[in-house]
Order: sequence, then C-alpha cells, then structure tokens
Amino acid sequence: MSTYVLSCQIQFLRRKEEGRLPPRRKQRGFGRLIHMSHSESAYRITMKFGGTSVGSAEAIRRVASIVQQTRRNVLHTTANTNSRQTALVVSAMSGVTNELIRAAESAVNGDLGSVESTMQILQERHLATVAALGLAENESLQLEDEIAKLLGYGHSLCQATSVLGELTPRGSDVISGLGERLSVHLVAAALRSQGLAAQAIEATELIITDDNFGAASPLPDETRARIRARVLPMLREDTIPVVTGFVGATRDGRPTTLGRGGSDYTATILGADLDSDEIWIWSDVDGVMTADPRIVPDAQTIDVLSCAEAAEFSYFGAKVIHPKTILPAVEHRIPLRILNSFDPSHPGTLILAETRPNGRVVKGITAVKHVSQVTVEGRGMIGIPGIAARVFTAVAQEHVNVLMISQSSSEQSICFIVPQGASERTLWALKRAFESDMLRHNVERIWSQDDVAIVAVVGEQMKGTVGIAGRLFSALAEQEINILAIAQGSSEYNISMALSAGDADRAVRALHATFELGQKSHGRL
Ligand code: ADP
Ligand code: ASP
Ligand code: MG
Repeated sequence: MSTYVLSCQIQFLRRKEEGRLPPRRKQRGFGRLIHMSHSESAYRITMKFGGTSVGSAEAIRRVASIVQQTRRNVLHTTANTNSRQTALVVSAMSGVTNELIRAAESAVNGDLGSVESTMQILQERHLATVAALGLAENESLQLEDEIAKLLGYGHSLCQATSVLGELTPRGSDVISGLGERLSVHLVAAALRSQGLAAQAIEATELIITDDNFGAASPLPDETRARIRARVLPMLREDTIPVVTGFVGATRDGRPTTLGRGGSDYTATILGADLDSDEIWIWSDVDGVMTADPRIVPDAQTIDVLSCAEAAEFSYFGAKVIHPKTILPAVEHRIPLRILNSFDPSHPGTLILAETRPNGRVVKGITAVKHVSQVTVEGRGMIGIPGIAARVFTAVAQEHVNVLMISQSSSEQSICFIVPQGASERTLWALKRAFESDMLRHNVERIWSQDDVAIVAVVGEQMKGTVGIAGRLFSALAEQEINILAIAQGSSEYNISMALSAGDADRAVRALHATFELGQKSHGRL
C-alpha cells in the first residue's frame, strides 16, 4: 500500500476515533471523507493542478500518476461504488500566463520583436514538453499542430493589438487564457498515455460569465446546466475531462477570465456543479500554511481549517487559494483539500464547513502587498451622517475593490485600502464627489499613500479571546514597525493592519514567532 493511501487511512481512522467526521457525510468502508452528494453510486473527485504542478514534462507525468493512484487506490477501495470518476482542471504551465500578458503589453507598445521572441519561447517550451512526454507518434503530431495553431492565434492577436495600439480587457482575456488552452492538451495526452481515457475541454463551453473581462463572474444557472450536460456523460463513460482553468465565456461566446489565480475557482465551480464528493487542489506547497513559506521558512501546514478561516486566509493574501474558491464548496458542503503534487503522501489541509479547534487561537499570518491607503479627512466631517456612504458609493461606482476600512473614533477621518493600481482613479472619484465639501472645508484633504501592505492575523477562535491585540501590537512595537491603520472584522476571525510595504515581511515573521506558529506540533489534531 502506498504511503499516500496509508496516510489517508490513518487520517480517516483518527477522525473516526475522535468523532470528527463531518456531519451529513456517510462513512462507508475505507477512504477519505466519504459522502455521496449525488444520487449515482460513483465516488467523484474534482482535482485542480496549478501551474507548477503542470510546469514540465516531469510534473505532468506526476499528475498522471497521481490521477492513476487516486483512482486505483482511493476510489477503488471505496465500498459500494461501481465506478470511479475524476474530473480535472488545469492551469497554464508555470509562468506562461505572465509571458502571454507580457507579449500583449509589448504589442501595445509596438514592440513586435518581443512578441515574436516570447511566442517562440512559449512554442519551444511546449514542444519540448511534448517531446519529453514520450507519447505515441500520432498524439505528438496532433499536439504539435494544436500548439502551433494556438500560439499562431496568439501571435496574430498581438499583431492586431499592435496595429490598434490598444489592449482592451476583452483582448487581454483572449491572449492571457491561451496558456490553459495549451496545457489541457498536454495533460489529457499524458493521461491517455497511461491508459486512461481523457479528453481536453475548453471551459468557454462550460463556465458562462458576465462580461466583466479580467475578473468575470460566472452565471450560476447557465454554468451548472452546461457543465452537467457536457461533463456528466463523460464521467459516466469513465472518460476524464481535463478542463481549462481560469477561462470562461459570455453567453454570446466571447472569452473571459475569472481573474489571476482563478483556476482554483474553476475547480470549485466544476466540483460543485458535478456534485463532487471531494475537491482537491494540488499545488506546490503542503497545504495552507501558517504563513507564506517563502517569507517564513518555519511555516507549518495547517491540518484543518473552517471555510470561514480559509476564506480569510485567501482574502488576505494566502495565494495558495484564490479568494473566490471557497464559496462553491461551502454552498454544496463539499470537503476541499489543498495538497502538494510534489509530495502526494503529505495529507495537506482539509477545509470543512465547520470549525475544528486545534488548540490554536491564531491559525496563521497573511500579507497583501501592492495596496494603497486612501484617506478622507476634515474636522467638518464630525457628526455628519452619510459621509461614509458617500465615500463608498463614489468608490463603488469606479468598481474599485475595498480591502479594509478604518475610521477614527473622532470621525475626523475615514481611511481604507484599495489595490495600488486603483488608487489614482479612487482619488479622482472622491475629489469629484466631495468637491463642494472641500470648498466649504468640511472635508479638508483627500490623499493616498502607495506602497502599503495589509498584514492579517487569522483564526476563528480569536473571537472572544482577550489579549490577542495586545500581543500583536507589542510584537510590532518591539520591531519598531509603525501601524498606519487597524481593522477587526465583526466576525473577529481576523485583525488586519495596514503598514508600510517595506515592513510587511518583518511583521509577518515577528507575529509568526509571537504566536508560536513555527512549532512542529502546530495543527496536529
Ligand atoms: P498554483 O500555481 O498551484 O495555483 P500558486 O503559486 O497560485 O500555486 O499558490 C501557491 C503559492 O502560494 C505557494 O508556493 C506559496 O508561496 C504561496 N503562499 C502564500 N501564502 C501561503 C500560505 N499561507 N500557505 C501556503 N502557501 C502560501
Ligand atoms: N494561469 C492563471 C494565472 O496565472 C490562472 C491560475 O494559474 O490559476 O493567473
Ligand atoms: Mg494559484
């Protein structure tokens, strides 16, 4: 038995012993958390593989073997199921989306030489991957054709962009989504080479969105209907659908994207609409960790998180899960796992609807960088109702996402945090909305500070626990880190602080140490 299966079994038995199986999930035989959310007696897992997990031929072969093993070892041993169903979502190979965006930007600047060389590099990388996958000749030839066709299309889109001298959000979505359209073919072919029936599908057929290009929102009913009509028959025939992450299309077929890192979201949409029993997100880390391991080397994996906690982690910068990912899984009460494709034997993080206290009040520290602090201040604001409403109406009209809000108790200022790229237009909108108030000096100053970061301390058990804020502020004071603004969500699941971006990593490390999150025992249940 593989260590992978063994670890699943141990986990399952430990949970069973401790009565920690989630409610409403039937426990049947051996396996991970087992419930049948669909009426068919098949065990269904939707898995997503991120960019690094499909970043090379070796990584793609690892994906194929994970899928093989999961179906053989985990699903096959699930009692009372007569079939094993897996659906896959894949990202572009690591770095490819960035390269495509860079090519589109070069095109706007008329630098067709850079476009040419980027497309050349992408073509060579994908062709080299095909060669290294060691596929049958006809598979390789077909893949080579597909790669040439897609990158040729990307090239001509960039040429058109350069003629226009303008990159619209719509054009940007078509170009940036090409990476996933390439990678699905490689992964599907690798699965077929392992004897599994697999078929690449473009999510433009499945995920129907609004036309907010760059960060489109899926239309739930249409998307569900499309997914069920197209994908369920494949699952019943035991064909593995390999779906492009990140992309969708409007009702009239114009390609959109769900926002950077959006393949995680594709996975939970697909997983939920297929009534999956579980959703597994495979990345390059051992799950959600107590902090970004690139910043804090002794960060530890968190075994179990509630959906509310996971949402706070992702919202406040834990890149390992896209912020919108949690919702479809919560709504359908589907357990979500974050796993490491480079170490499949590691149990990773399990995200469940309800909280599972693990003796830690603070579960982790996160940071959001590249944000700006916007402040509206004036003595004339004191006691005047409706100022905050006017501030946030003006900001909402610009479609700017507000990440954190803080108001001084004297009501002399309201400050909030927005993405740095949106600070200029936020200021412009506010100055227009408060023009007459500024003339009357009720509002004296509207200004912004760039190069800010939000550092957040997250944990559901912080609710009602006294002394967390005190420890937090002392830790930052000891490091001589200045706090620009503080906010605590009414849920009390996080305390977030705005501080200078240059202090962010030091603050994360200091808080991680203060709350003793680096200790190996952390998260063990
Ligand atoms: P993928 O390509 O698989 O979607 P991402 O690069 O989007 O992967 O997300 C994984 C990365 O998220 C990790 O390599 C890690 O550096 C970063 N990260 C940030 N915060 C956390 C955290 N709290 N736990 C785990 N990873 C984190
Ligand atoms: N490839 C897309 C990105 O880099 C989506 C994803 O990886 O989730 O943003
Ligand atoms: Mg990601």
